[in-house]
Amino acid sequence: MLLSSLLFLLLPVAALSGWYMGRREKPPEKDVNLKTTSPTYLKGLNFLLNEQPDKAIDVFIQLLEVDSETIETHLALGSLFRRRGEVDRAIRIHQNLIARPTLNKEQRSQALFELGQDYLRAGLLDRAEALFSELITSNPHTEAALLYLIDIYQQEKDWEKAIEMSRRLEVKSGHKQFTQIAHYYCELAELARAEGDRSRAMKLIKRALNSDSKSVRASLLEGEAYMSDENYKQAIKSFRRIEQQDINYLPEAISRLSDCYSRTGKQDEMSAYLQQLYARHKGTPIILAMTNLVEDQQGDDKAIEFITSSIKNAPTVRAMDRLIELNIRNSEGVEKEKLLVLKEITGKLLDAKPIYQCHICGFSSKQLYWQCPSCRNWDAIKPIHDLEGE
Ligand SMILES: [Zn+2]
Repeated sequence: MLLSSLLFLLLPVAALSGWYMGRREKPPEKDVNLKTTSPTYLKGLNFLLNEQPDKAIDVFIQLLEVDSETIETHLALGSLFRRRGEVDRAIRIHQNLIARPTLNKEQRSQALFELGQDYLRAGLLDRAEALFSELITSNPHTEAALLYLIDIYQQEKDWEKAIEMSRRLEVKSGHKQFTQIAHYYCELAELARAEGDRSRAMKLIKRALNSDSKSVRASLLEGEAYMSDENYKQAIKSFRRIEQQDINYLPEAISRLSDCYSRTGKQDEMSAYLQQLYARHKGTPIILAMTNLVEDQQGDDKAIEFITSSIKNAPTVRAMDRLIELNIRNSEGVEKEKLLVLKEITGKLLDAKPIYQCHICGFSSKQLYWQCPSCRNWDAIKPIHDLEGE
């Protein structure tokens, strides 16, 4: 494996070596033959053939080091190694470049930029952070360095710095970063909540909403904060805002809303709200919430009647599962046993089904992630609904 990767490396080095020797030893030859190849090169080749690739690389680096015009080749080799996952070698090449006093400002900045990416790839976040922080003041790399820094601060969960760098990126690129910034404030709000600092959490939630008025996450956090204050009226306002923010996330709010309305004894209002929603959006989460209300207020028979009529035209596994569950409670003997078998089947089907999916990369999960663990986009993972009937 190592040898084959080095043979790959050998191609540009060999070509360059020929070019290099040709320049130094006039007259230039179009064809390179082994007679004109330097002893150092042959030494490197020897190491390579003896399967001592690291020594071979050192020799090749040495060979290339003499002339400042070989910097581009160093950079190309370094990034080639990084792309092939041989990060240690990429680091060695780039460090070797940076150590040279003859580099001009742009060349040094390019080498630092490459080395920063090597460190990031190797998971050496502190070192990558130090390099990219140096590079945000050097013009050609400012924007890319800011993006890398934001990525690093996200990985380190340093949300304050992620906000700071995103603001700088907005200025530099002219592109708004409000979605991410709102999430960083939400992350900070969750930390404040975990520490029991309710007023700081509330301030941060407001900042998230100021940054992105469509932040569903901020509305959920705000609603939950009001719920723990037992201020259900305000909590209902926060949760109901989600319908306008992003209807896809409404299932996240429905059970919380039901809870708030029932704690204030206003199930009728919940029922009216659900009916409005049902008229506009249909969808299994709404049908299930309505079934729960009917069950509480009018009993199992009415709930069975309601859910049966609601799913007749578009049955979904989740709704079928609920219908079977209601029927089991109201049956006995052989019929009950048959229903239990059916319930086991729908249960297995539901277990195998993801609940959330990323609309960008397709990653699916049972849990809601605000940032996709696969493609790292924010707000890309949404509840899957209305797809269960297929
Ligand atoms: Zn994704």
